[in-house]
Amino acid sequence: MTDQAKTQKIQKINGVRGMNDLLPADAAQWAHLEHVLRDLTRAYGYEFLRTPIVEATAVFQRGIGEVTDIVEKEMYSFEDRLNGEQLTLRPEGTAAIVRSVVENNLLYEGPKRLWYTGPMFRHERPQRGRYRQFHQFGIEALGFAGPDIDAEIILMGQRLWDELGLKGVRLEINSLGQAPERAQHRAALVTYFEAHKEQLDEDSQRRLLSNPLRILDSKNPAMQELIEGAPKLLDYLGEESLKHFEAVQALLKANNIPCKINPRLVRGLDYYNLTVFEWITEELGAQGTIAGGGRYDPLIERMGGKSAPACGWAMGMERVLELMKVSGSLPEAQAQCDVFVLHQGGETLTAAMIIAERLRSAGIDVILFCPPDGQSASFKSQMKKADASGAAYAVIIGPDELAKDEAQIKDLRASGQQKAVALDSLVEAVIDAIVGATE
Ligand code: ATP
Ligand code: MG
Repeated sequence: MTDQAKTQKIQKINGVRGMNDLLPADAAQWAHLEHVLRDLTRAYGYEFLRTPIVEATAVFQRGIGEVTDIVEKEMYSFEDRLNGEQLTLRPEGTAAIVRSVVENNLLYEGPKRLWYTGPMFRHERPQRGRYRQFHQFGIEALGFAGPDIDAEIILMGQRLWDELGLKGVRLEINSLGQAPERAQHRAALVTYFEAHKEQLDEDSQRRLLSNPLRILDSKNPAMQELIEGAPKLLDYLGEESLKHFEAVQALLKANNIPCKINPRLVRGLDYYNLTVFEWITEELGAQGTIAGGGRYDPLIERMGGKSAPACGWAMGMERVLELMKVSGSLPEAQAQCDVFVLHQGGETLTAAMIIAERLRSAGIDVILFCPPDGQSASFKSQMKKADASGAAYAVIIGPDELAKDEAQIKDLRASGQQKAVALDSLVEAVIDAIVGATE
């Protein structure tokens, strides 16, 4: 340690508030979730589309809508100092996916089923289930107009919760109708809220003029009663919109998917029409929405593409993992390797390293002991590491074994038995042992 370091403790640098490291201890859970999601998308014929994490700010301003929580106060936007471009760390996936679909003309050959996953960024107050960097998985079905696809994407969600063993997830659904229906409802809403203006909080007073529908989305407990009594959009839907909504519900019913109509469900983004829905749990406190989505027929045209209907949903991966924990359905921690190789340094290390490489070439996962001090360590302390690694077998090469061109194979799980094997046939012996144990 330098004198300066001794007298003045060197400050460590911390991560950004609300942006978390996903630590190795949790890696298996994330891998499990990602694995299930990949299988799900395959089962329904969805293709993976990976867009950049940074987009032009206009993508979200125009896509999500100016008068939304996300665009008004949650976006990480900045000017690229090198060329003056206005950029934003993506707060959600849909607007970026549509930007890409339009730019790459992906609907040229007909409709597309797409999925995405990755980190999203929103400047919110960090708390349980709410972070500034979080991860979403989402699906988008583009170019399909009928209620069948609305129902299919909801079935996908239900299948996912079942696969993941989630308990207590309920589906809430609503219809936002079409723009003219919302305009009529909006007029009624404004009249209603103006008559009760003194009960509106500051945000909602502002929204009264800019986007009164958003008031229904408010989580402010003091306003819930007022919101409960507000005119319901469902009462303003025309025949076509009602028909679509009823068809979605009928398909859900035919597939035994229970759902509750929530006339106040409006979703926090501006691009939706017709069907909207959320999956909600009571198990995670205030951050109880694990996924949400709906139909967004106007968006593709709004982003400069040829008008085409679309719908989709997005899920928060941290919230889903948290709910898996609460539901007791997280997978067991996995072993780090199949085989742990022990040695005594020098020539035994050289032999051990060659053996480890041969085992890996045969498809076996191997950790080769490396002494932290670069010297060597007792077999006893190495064996402790081997046990902790979760490996099924230890391969031990000491000077005595090497002198006879042998190694010891030790069963670390069931029998604890140990036997000497010629180095030449060690790979086969390990494979036989692993295959034999799984039969
Ligand atoms: P909320 O009402 O909880 O703020 P939202 O309506 O803003 O959610 P969406 O934009 O619909 O959320 O995003 C889809 C999902 O992403 C949410 O249902 C949630 O599971 C997750 N999510 C959204 N914001 C966050 C966040 N800041 N941290 C963790 N997960 C989030
Ligand atoms: Mg939000």
